[in-house]
Amino acid sequence: MEYQGGCQCGQARFEVCGEPQHVSICHCSDCRRSAGAPFVSWAAFAAADFKSSGEISSYNSSGRAFRHFCAVCGTGLFYVNEEYLPGLVDIQTCTLDDPEALVPQSHVQTAERLHWTSLMEELPKFERFPLAKRFSVSRLSERLFLAVIQPVSRPCPLRNRFSPATVILLASHRYSRRTAYQAP
Ligand SMILES: [Zn+2]
Ligand SMILES: [Zn+2]
Repeated sequence: MEYQGGCQCGQARFEVCGEPQHVSICHCSDCRRSAGAPFVSWAAFAAADFKSSGEISSYNSSGRAFRHFCAVCGTGLFYVNEEYLPGLVDIQTCTLDDPEALVPQSHVQTAERLHWTSLMEELPKFERFPLAKRFSVSRLSERLFLAVIQPVSRPCPLRNRFSPATVILLASHRYSRRTAYQAP
């Protein structure tokens, strides 16, 4: 099997053939900090079957661990550690052109896992950002009241700095933030 992938801006690319030795979701704090995300999904392939192109930088995140990323857009791409993964390249599976291609088989480093990641499936789900469906007439009139009528009796400091239309937008955004993430 052959897999291809790359970074967000498209200048860094890679390809790899064969089958991965393992595919897993890593919960370690180094992955979390590097990605700025709660966990990272990895697939380890033989280094001999891997090649990359474009301008790629690396960061020595700990010991002999080198995290490689696009030098232009910063997307994390792959990881090399000759101490713990000799002869292997660990690829961030969500940088594959088909991020569904390799399904994780395990969670690793769960000793450092954020406790709320086990609750994720129970959270309310919205196919898109929930704000989009909240512009009903009654909601809008409520926002107009908050933005225009209310400040007449209690002067709003924003009114001196922004046009009335901007104040309405800011107020509706503020109102939405208060309500948007209530369970449906
Ligand atoms: Zn890039
Ligand atoms: Zn990790």
